[in-house]
Order: sequence, then structure tokens, then C-alpha cells
Amino acid sequence: MKRKKNSNAANKGMTMFFVVLTCLFAFVAGVKTMQYFSARQTPETTETQTAPDKTDAETIETAEAAAPATTAAPASETASGGDKVVYLTFDDGPTDNTKNIMNVLEAQGVRGTFFVIHSHDGCEEQIREIHERGHCIALHTYSHLYSIYRSEKTYFDDLGKISDLVYNATGTRSMLLRFPGGSSNTISRKYCDGIMTTLTKEVTKRGYTYFDWNVDSGDAAKVHVPADKIVRNSTAAIGEKNEVILLMHDAVAKTTTVDALPEIIAAYRAAGYRFDVLSSDSFVWHHTVLN
Ligand code: ZN
Repeated sequence: MKRKKNSNAANKGMTMFFVVLTCLFAFVAGVKTMQYFSARQTPETTETQTAPDKTDAETIETAEAAAPATTAAPASETASGGDKVVYLTFDDGPTDNTKNIMNVLEAQGVRGTFFVIHSHDGCEEQIREIHERGHCIALHTYSHLYSIYRSEKTYFDDLGKISDLVYNATGTRSMLLRFPGGSSNTISRKYCDGIMTTLTKEVTKRGYTYFDWNVDSGDAAKVHVPADKIVRNSTAAIGEKNEVILLMHDAVAKTTTVDALPEIIAAYRAAGYRFDVLSSDSFVWHHTVLN
């Protein structure tokens, strides 16, 4: 009896030993397997986060185009009743390229909206010409420096200067504007926390209408974006959006934007869209304010 009891105890001890050993082995194997899979996943995660290459010279324009239309929310939409409209908008001019843009637009019987800055001394003459040729002049700021977002005062001082310049050139006080970087820009946070929340309300209170964009041509993604890529970006909204405010840039280097215009216009026309200039009564698109 005694021996048998001892033998049972020995068997139990051996069994426990093997159970513990098996558990330990399973645990180590499990950890190794997890390490293997997490090591495999790491490079994929890194790849998707890789940013496209940019140069310093593009910083201003790239920042402006950084807000994707997909993050946008409509502030107000004019009931269109099936009307399909495209608003071609050109930021940062006038430049030596403005004439080329206007020539292409006019050959197609289309008018554009130009959000102008004080691009160079003597730019009043070009602004007057844009106006006289029947296109729309709107305000984009005098300096296009992000430091204007330091305070409400610095912003409105700068806006007042471009407003006066446009008024002197055209005899018309424009009440249409686009913020540098769009209303969704977060670069402004570097200068003043919450400034875009303040300014978007304040410009409206002062009677301005501000416009963002709901389609980005992508012409500011780098210095020379191929024309066919600009066409693809610009026409991707066909069939999805009835009202399109298309962001493009008027800069000396943006020759492919001019090259892309006839095809963009033809594609929208073929899909039944008409072209118009922005106004206080037109369709409006506002991004979500993020600062
Ligand atoms: Zn701009």
C-alpha cells in the first residue's frame, strides 16, 4: 500500500513536470511567432506613411493644396436643380503666365476666377487687364506670407492692402476671397492658435465670401506636374459632383496647367457642365476649419 502510494505520488510529479514543460514550450513558441509577424508588418506600415518628395520652393503652394477635398464639408450649397457648373480658379497670380491662361480660356469661351496677390511691383496693370477681359478678380492676400495669421489685425491689414490694390486697378471692391492655404490650413497654428476659427467668422461678418475648393488639380504637388496628370486630377469629379470649384495655380513655372486646360474644359463640356465665375451668390465650398 505504502509503496503504491509513493509510486502514485511519483507519477503525479512526473505528469505535472511534463505539463509545465509543455506550457513553457508553447509560450516560447507563441512569442517567437508574434515577433515574426510584427517584424513582417513593420516595413509595410512605414511604406504607407512615406510622404511625397517636396522642395523648399514649393512649400507655399504645396501647403495650399495640402487639404484634400475629401476632408471637406460643405458650409452651404446652392440648390442646383440638376445644373452642373465648374468654377476654374487660379491662385497666386498675376504672372507672365496669366496671359496664356486667359488666351486658352477665351478660345474656349470660358471665364476664370483669379485669386490675386501682390505678385510683383506693377502687377496692377495685369490685374486691370484680367478684369477688362471679363474674368473675375478675387482676393488672396497682398503678401501670401503665413505670418499674416499672427493676429486678426495682421490678417486684415494685409487683406486691406490687396483690396485697395484691386480697387485702384479695377474700380471694383472685391468681396470674394480665398485664404492662403485654404481655411483648413494648420500652418497658421504656428503663428496663432485658433486664428482660422476667428478669421472665417470675422470675414463673413465683414461681408466677404470666402471660397475653398472641392477639386484639386494637383498642379502644386511639385514644380512640373505632367499635363495628363493635371487633367486626370481635375476631371476625377465628373459624375460625382454637380458643382466643382477647381483649384489651379497661376505661376510662371505652371506651364503644364495651361497645357491641361483645353482637355479639362472639353471633358467637363462633354459631361454637360457649364462654366462660370464665382460670386457672392454662387455655389460656395468651405473646408472644415482645423485651427
Ligand atoms: Zn496661394
